[in-house]
Amino acid sequence: MTARVLVVDDVPPNVKLLEAKLTGEYFDVLTAYSGPQALEVIAREHPDIVLLDVMMPGMDGFEVCSKIKSDPETAHIPVVMVTALDQPSDRVTGLEAGADDFLTKPVEDLALFARVKSLVRLKIMMDELRNRETTSTALGWEEDAQETLVDPPLEDCSILVVDEQERVAQRIGKALEQFGEMTFIKGGDDVAERAREKNFDLIIVSLTMRETDGLRICSKLRSFEETRHVPILVMVDDGNHNKLIRALEMGINDYVVRPVDRLEFVARVQTQLKRKRYADQLWENFHLSMQLATTDAVTGLYNRHYLTSHLDTQLSASQRYAKPLSVLMLDIDHFKRVNDSYGHAVGDRVLKEFATRVGRNIRGVDLAARYGGEEFVVMMPETHADWAFMIGDRLREEIANTPFDVGAPTGPLDITVSIGVATSVEGMSPSNLLEAADRALYAAKNGGRNKVIAAETL
Ligand code: GH3
Ligand code: MG
Ligand code: MG
Repeated sequence: MTARVLVVDDVPPNVKLLEAKLTGEYFDVLTAYSGPQALEVIAREHPDIVLLDVMMPGMDGFEVCSKIKSDPETAHIPVVMVTALDQPSDRVTGLEAGADDFLTKPVEDLALFARVKSLVRLKIMMDELRNRETTSTALGWEEDAQETLVDPPLEDCSILVVDEQERVAQRIGKALEQFGEMTFIKGGDDVAERAREKNFDLIIVSLTMRETDGLRICSKLRSFEETRHVPILVMVDDGNHNKLIRALEMGINDYVVRPVDRLEFVARVQTQLKRKRYADQLWENFHLSMQLATTDAVTGLYNRHYLTSHLDTQLSASQRYAKPLSVLMLDIDHFKRVNDSYGHAVGDRVLKEFATRVGRNIRGVDLAARYGGEEFVVMMPETHADWAFMIGDRLREEIANTPFDVGAPTGPLDITVSIGVATSVEGMSPSNLLEAADRALYAAKNGGRNKVIAAETL
């Protein structure tokens, strides 16, 4: 992972030290030696994370942090406050100023890299979401974009804590109850197996249990598909460096050292939960864009593009197994009159109701698509010509027999549909098949409308 890190400290050797450590891990390092200078660099360079010294003459770290967090242009940039060990109250002030995490001077390598990596991952997620939102808005999907922009409070999460010591578990439960539901497991060989059965948002594992090997739990959690992406936070004792390094190598997301500072703990839990939430949102967005790309917004049916690519696949499969495949091409009769008499909105409602009736009358394996304005196609695998004709005629009746109650001032509208049916024969291409159905449809229109005609009979 590479990222641009801004190091802010009024004491040059402190800056140089952090710069050297971070450069050694291939981070790009920017530097600033005062609050105002830091704000200037942030505005110009948009770093991925800021390491901010608290004690600086003039504008101190808290003030700088508040300014970063109150500007919408920079509020998403994670800020780590670098505090003195003997000033625990700094943490409270830091949190109030909006800090995302803390480091204590002298800054330890392991802590430094763990914090920076964990927060940079969070920022990468947020940046990606912001980019998608920009794209969605540009494509005119504003409604969907709005939903992801809001950042609801983290209160319905589900957290698993694995620790033998009941008292510790209780204390953690108290500190984290604001985030949602807590589950406790005292250890055992099947912890990871039990964890995969529930959708946890965060798993906290003690690495200092006597009866259970916490590292093994972490490694199993990383190998199961269900838990591979669930953030893991481990708890270690001071001086338990080797275990911690192993755990970090396994891909755990962050750690806390016992005795755990409550504020630090809550801040880190929050970072992990947020990242999980952003990752979930990205995943949902992915499904949503798939849906938007394949379906038609007015009717909810598949769109023409999806139909043609799917018909391609289905037709090859049918021909390979010598099975028939039929298509219906449907076109609403005199639909222009509906628009002309009652307006486009009523027309849209007719299309929607039409699609609903079609959907209700076909099988799960059939695929209904909006092919054009008021033209629809139903693809029916493993369906002979006579059966397809029968389904077509049932659809025709379904439309003609019940007027469409779509809020037209003159009451429900009489709607009819003309349908062309075509069934594949050997060597037919998807476009041949659709053309045959279209010819049959044309014949149905010429024959007086509200009719079904099969291509074979032409
Ligand atoms: P025919 O019986 O010969 O099919 O006559 P028709 O009026 O249905 O056919 P024509 O192709 O002349 O007109 C189709 C109309 O469908 C014209 C167009 O404005 C309307 N239309 C196409 N897409 C939409 C849509 O998304 N919403 C609405 N309300 N109308 C649409
Ligand atoms: Mg029409
Ligand atoms: Mg038409």
